[in-house]
Amino acid sequence: MSDDEAEEEYLFKIVIIGDSAVGKSNLLSRYSRNEFNAHSKATIGVEFQTQSVEIDGKEVKAQIWDTAGQERFRAVTSAYYRGAFGALLVYDISRRATFDNVARWLDELNSHSDTTVARMLVGNKCDLENSREVSLEEGKSLAESEGLFFVETSALDSTNVQTAFEIIIREIYNNVSRKVL
Ligand code: GDP
Repeated sequence: MSDDEAEEEYLFKIVIIGDSAVGKSNLLSRYSRNEFNAHSKATIGVEFQTQSVEIDGKEVKAQIWDTAGQERFRAVTSAYYRGAFGALLVYDISRRATFDNVARWLDELNSHSDTTVARMLVGNKCDLENSREVSLEEGKSLAESEGLFFVETSALDSTNVQTAFEIIIREIYNNVSRKVL
């Protein structure tokens, strides 16, 4: 192996999309800083966090972008999607409207990116079992029909947060290394 190969680095952009208040910022802060904010406001000014993961002995960096509240004004720009290798499409299992809007987010994602972008559907707030409005089966079946990975998460109690990001990062890494070989 040459020195160049040994020092090979991977840096992937991942975007988080979905309706307001589904927990996008908290998923990212839970993953990158192990923090949760009960009263979080739009994270104006914070655009992305970079997280390193080791896969097959290589350092893989994920640059994970949060909408920073742009979706409140239906104004997620094409710059936001540009260069993304992966997308987490988040809904709130306790608010059906956010699940109904997944189709709209998928359309938007498709209009800004090609089919090679790794996609994952994330049903967040699974700690709110008592106010659940979207069943686990509905999430799974939508993901299957649209060819998305799927997981339910809780940014509040940390359920599956790391898993969600790691699945998408590994999938991107696999896609890219398949192309390189
Ligand atoms: P965003 O607008 O999609 O970025 O959503 P935020 O991350 O700002 O979260 C919106 C609200 O939902 C905040 O009050 C959070 O505390 C709350 N929240 C986020 N994730 C969870 C979760 O997993 N469980 C519960 N119960 N509340 C959550």
